[in-house]
Amino acid sequence: MESEKDIKAKLYSRYPLSSVVIYNGSTILHFLLGGIGIALVYRFSPWAGYTFGVLYLIFSFVEMYVIMPVAVCPNCVYYRAKDSLCISGLNILSKKIAKEGDPKDFPRRAEGLLCPNNLYLASLIIPIVAMIPALIVNFSVVLLVIFLVVAGLLLFRFFIIFPKIACLHCRAKYMCPQAEAMGVRNR
Ligand code: SF4
Repeated sequence: MESEKDIKAKLYSRYPLSSVVIYNGSTILHFLLGGIGIALVYRFSPWAGYTFGVLYLIFSFVEMYVIMPVAVCPNCVYYRAKDSLCISGLNILSKKIAKEGDPKDFPRRAEGLLCPNNLYLASLIIPIVAMIPALIVNFSVVLLVIFLVVAGLLLFRFFIIFPKIACLHCRAKYMCPQAEAMGVRNR
């Protein structure tokens, strides 16, 4: 008889719309609140706050919604699977703006210092690291709430979205370094 441990998670060719909305909703909220938080927390300097905040917003949105579909998605199984919808929905955008790649190159997303995986992690962590020192010298309850929400979104991503909603059900998980890091490859 099959034990509970032997039952593998279902793999989605098309993620439920609710999962795609949760993934992109939390991503966009993270970036927007991160940018606003950086802008407000450094506002004691006339130029630094808005400059850093806007630069962060450009970096994070470009990294997620331009670099990923151009550099990573063309090598992904979702790019070539008919009628598929990945967790971010970026396979659909990628098909419109980038040429098909080679599935063998998919793990290269995690190779090198400035690889797409590291840029993605940086886009999530930068606002938290940037806000801590400025928050100490420029404390306000509003800034503290923004900081806690962004930190909460990061924890939500690592402890709920990746292991339970995204990577667990992903058809790319057998090749994806992140699925291995999350320990979901064989679940
Ligand atoms: S395993 Fe996770 S990180 Fe890798 S492609 Fe799938 S959803 Fe994205």
